[in-house]
Amino acid sequence: MQLFRHDRLWRRHPIKPSYDVVIIGAGVHGLATAYYLGRAHGIRKVALLEKNWLGYGASGRNTAIIRANYRTPEGVPFYLASLGLYEEMSHELEWNVLFTQCGHLTLAHTDSSVNGLRVRAETNKLLDVQSALIGPEEIRRLVPGLDLSARPRFPVLAALWHPPGGIIRHDAVVWAYARACDRMGIEIHEHTEALGIRTEGTDGARRVTGVTTNRGEIHAATVVNCTAGWASTVSRMVGLDLPLVTHPLQACVTEPLKPFLTPVIVSSNLHVYINQTDRGELVIGAEIDPYQCYSLRGTLPTLEQMAQQTLELFPQLHSVRVLRQWGGICEITPDYSPIISGTDAVQGFFMDVGWGTYGFKAGPIAGKCLAELLATGRANPLIEPFALSRFSQDRLVGEKAAAAVSH
Ligand SMILES: Cc1cc2nc3c(=O)[nH]c(=O)nc-3n(C[C@H](O)[C@H](O)[C@H](O)COP(=O)(O)OP(=O)(O)OC[C@H]3O[C@@H](n4cnc5c(N)ncnc54)[C@H](O)[C@@H]3O)c2cc1C
Repeated sequence: MQLFRHDRLWRRHPIKPSYDVVIIGAGVHGLATAYYLGRAHGIRKVALLEKNWLGYGASGRNTAIIRANYRTPEGVPFYLASLGLYEEMSHELEWNVLFTQCGHLTLAHTDSSVNGLRVRAETNKLLDVQSALIGPEEIRRLVPGLDLSARPRFPVLAALWHPPGGIIRHDAVVWAYARACDRMGIEIHEHTEALGIRTEGTDGARRVTGVTTNRGEIHAATVVNCTAGWASTVSRMVGLDLPLVTHPLQACVTEPLKPFLTPVIVSSNLHVYINQTDRGELVIGAEIDPYQCYSLRGTLPTLEQMAQQTLELFPQLHSVRVLRQWGGICEITPDYSPIISGTDAVQGFFMDVGWGTYGFKAGPIAGKCLAELLATGRANPLIEPFALSRFSQDRLVGEKAAAAVSH
């Protein structure tokens, strides 16, 4: 179908009284879930509720790093499957999502970090992920501009090199899913806030019956929480307290520079990561702000920290101007792994949350597996380890080593 400039990628609809599935939150996870419900399972009476506009949340604010070099045997195949779906996405959704597989380099500045990266490299290789520990000579070949001298307070000792990692255009991903959902008749309702979730039955046998929104009541037997940083607030609507804390995460972008940096650079010790866009700008990200809150604003202390850590790696950037800084919010679990499951406490209530600072790359596979769970009642082996029940069964999936700073 030819697309004309005046065609909207997704349409507006009146709210219907009832849907088979209501998804709260239209970021990459909500959209991917809706897409696979429609495409793989023929479930198209689906409403996506978004209290702001498409991509308002972290899906429109992230630094768009895609990679699969995680640490745990549960995490690695999951993220590898998502990387594969991203590789096919432009073709599958007929929309160029500008995925550049420029490689991903995680620097280690201490002996303990080198050991951690070595374990990751070996785990990755066993699970068919291209990943290797490399020394300063090879790092210099990949990033000639990086300061590999003994001058910095924490000189670079080694790095984890992951060639298939890279950068995608995050808003293109969101638009592509939205367009594909719209074409299947799935409804996207922007400026539609879920204010409450209705249930019936008593404790132990409670089930979802619908959602109360600022545009009226909706009946639905299945409701999905895909609200990332706001996930705790939505789960509390059914009386569920999730093991999540929400922190701001900030990033900034500089003026454009002559191309000098090809791979994505992450420093696991300095807590900074950098990539150069096709336009020449440097996108720089930090670790999470140290306090819990729902603020989306950039702050001067975090900007100072990002600048300082960047100059440890690239002192030649001392006079580069920052054009823009922004923040998003991220919900973090105790083990740095997501929660993708239903709950025995409330039948018909599902969640795909706990994405911390690293969930954009997981959108396609999380959506695909969650759609399968909703349609068939069976959890795909890729998401079995990530059920909410793991917290009461002491089966945590400790992914902090590969997820805390390295987005
Ligand atoms: C600065 C920054 C950098 C990041 N960098 C990376 C990276 O490089 N790589 C990576 O993989 N991940 C990264 N992340 C994390 C990633 O962006 C998120 O994990 C991911 O986008 C979460 O997607 P989502 O669809 O679950 O949620 P979101 O995109 O946050 O969408 C949730 C939506 O729910 C809506 N909502 C909330 N409450 C309600 C309600 N009551 N009713 C209706 N709608 C509601 C919100 O408005 C929001 O649009 C980064 C995050 C930030 C903030």
